[in-house]
Amino acid sequence: MPATAQTTVERRRFEITGIVQGVGFRPFVRALADRHGLAGRVGNTGWGVEVEVEGDGDALDAFASALVREAPAAAHVDRLTQAVVEPRGERGFAIAASRAGDAAPAVGPDLATCDDCLRELFDPHDRRHRYPFLACTACGPRFTVVRALPYDRERTTLAGFPLCADCRAEYEDPADRRFHAEAIACPACGPRLSMDLDEAVLLLRGGGILAVKGLGGWHLACDAADEEAVARLRARKARDAKAFAVMTADAEALVELEAEERALLRSAARPIVLARRRHGAPVAAGVAPGSPWLGVLEPYTPLHHLLLRDAGRPLVMTSGNRSDEPIAVGDDEARARLASIADAFLGHDRPIHRRCEDSVVRAGRPLRRSRGLAPAGLPLPAVAARPLVAAGAQLKSTFCVARGDRAWISPHLGDLDTDGARRAFRADLELYLAMLRLRPEVVAHDLHPGYASTAWALRQDAELVGVQHHHAHAAACLAEHGVTGPALAVVLDGTGYGPDGTLWGGELLHCDLASFERVAHLEALPLPGGEQAIREPWRSAAVHLERADRPVPFERWALVRQSLAVNAPLSSGAGRLLDAVAALLGVRSAVSYEGQAAVELEWLAGATAAEPYACRRAGDALIGADVVRAAHDDLAAGRPRAQIAAAAHEGLAAAFATACAEAGGPRTVVLSGGCLQNARIAASLERRLAGEGFAVLTHRRVPPNDGGISYGQAAVAAARMELPCA
Ligand code: ZN
Ligand code: ZN
Ligand code: FE
Repeated sequence: MPATAQTTVERRRFEITGIVQGVGFRPFVRALADRHGLAGRVGNTGWGVEVEVEGDGDALDAFASALVREAPAAAHVDRLTQAVVEPRGERGFAIAASRAGDAAPAVGPDLATCDDCLRELFDPHDRRHRYPFLACTACGPRFTVVRALPYDRERTTLAGFPLCADCRAEYEDPADRRFHAEAIACPACGPRLSMDLDEAVLLLRGGGILAVKGLGGWHLACDAADEEAVARLRARKARDAKAFAVMTADAEALVELEAEERALLRSAARPIVLARRRHGAPVAAGVAPGSPWLGVLEPYTPLHHLLLRDAGRPLVMTSGNRSDEPIAVGDDEARARLASIADAFLGHDRPIHRRCEDSVVRAGRPLRRSRGLAPAGLPLPAVAARPLVAAGAQLKSTFCVARGDRAWISPHLGDLDTDGARRAFRADLELYLAMLRLRPEVVAHDLHPGYASTAWALRQDAELVGVQHHHAHAAACLAEHGVTGPALAVVLDGTGYGPDGTLWGGELLHCDLASFERVAHLEALPLPGGEQAIREPWRSAAVHLERADRPVPFERWALVRQSLAVNAPLSSGAGRLLDAVAALLGVRSAVSYEGQAAVELEWLAGATAAEPYACRRAGDALIGADVVRAAHDDLAAGRPRAQIAAAAHEGLAAAFATACAEAGGPRTVVLSGGCLQNARIAASLERRLAGEGFAVLTHRRVPPNDGGISYGQAAVAAARMELPCA
């Protein structure tokens, strides 16, 4: 018979980092310890959660493996470390008070209203029936209400709403799903609406425009089926073509959804999902003029749920701003800035601490990584030995803060073309640095001297790291896949500053995180009038047609051509080639938002089958004008425009796939740049490169557009820190 097993008591300390505060992690740990018969304690710290448990060794092992495996759904464990410590002979298990400590952002993104809270919202017997601010540990605001860490109510914007006795009892009961839910509230003690909800609903149903205070800023809402209301909103917002998003409780009725998209729409992040519009969907034509796509999102706050249910119809839900300014956040700011747009303001007295616009996803690719996703950290495959800030680009601005092997991208800030946007950049960065409690020692920036982000970087008292725009795009894609390279990178973009002083944007790079080499690129052609050529795609068509020895059909060319002598920077941008084809086909000769001509060219091409137009190579240069010549000749011959558009898309993709094959290695290709938002180009490149036997990495977590630049800059700067000093 075996001797009776000697039970030895062990004690272990676990340190858990990631999104582990305000998500029910401590009660989960306590329940887990109870289940395994372990004593000890758990507490929040400045960097995450600390657990000490003691008991039998096997039980400790089982406890340790369940800590990550069974963690609450809203939690995300980045790292778990354990150490053996001296047993203390404790009995029972305690939840210890929070203590501040070393910095790390343990606050998670804002989460959509959970099913349990939703049931209460519409349960006439619940004390929170129709209360627009209910929340629990599994849902509600976080990032947008947190002022400082550790994440506790006193450090949120709800600090001014002391809990009533009922809420306090829930908050302090470890068995309650609101145990330490920092954002909880009820009609007796919590925030209130500034306007009667019934009046707001009446206004919407009558075709009015309502400003609605959301989680990370104000929205403008109107009846999505009301053509006149939508037209009024467009006129007042000074936005003539760019699509509006539609909030609906039944997305399936408006768009065709793949299983992945459906899951994304209902996920706690609740992004706007761009999906194919259903034929006959009850949405005004003015919501997304001419587009076969529609951006839809489901309600994500209790207030949205109430509005949608009472209005009984889908609502346009667009950022509370004019054109591409940052979204309005403060109540006074919103009332001032949106006064000429909104007919009424549905606000409330829970302050928003941080701006955070809705995220946007298309075909699994984030086009805007913001509410619901920020500030979740991303891995950095190179270690940032010193804290760094990457300033990002100019359009679709984000910044990125990094330390060690983690990076945190800011929410979407909009374009840095206005004073308001530049103020938002500085203010939001200060908030981030305060949240992370760090001071940057290194600042990474774009090479473009005209970017406001570059100008900001150059004023900082820190070591500066300049990162070429398209290297940053490529590095962002490498880094989000946790790889350092070397790899080939196809970066198809609008414009970015090249080290040779020309504008780059149709690039095949051979790179790793720290460095790059230009292997091939679209032939650089002049941009007559500089920036003006980006707003007027017909100018790109003219230079491509001239290069292709074809007549230029645009009347103004005779005059504009003179600008070639004075203001015509050279550009290899893939966006300009798409612009040229779009203008040639009569799709659009002038644009009202970035990339509009290329976007509409993609609509025209749709899924039309076509062989690629051939594109010669001369040295490093791919002759993009060949594509325009073929398009011109086909158009003259009467070929359907959709086929021409399709052949041009395929031609661009085929030219770069061939150039990759000719490069002879490495065998991994990353795809990035603004043109990779174009699903036709992305799919064609992926298919062709896979056919050539390449491993292809595409963006899944970070935007391929300039919203991902800051993260790429951070990855490059971190990789360069790792290099031995020269
Ligand atoms: Zn909830
Ligand atoms: Zn209460
Ligand atoms: Fe770019």
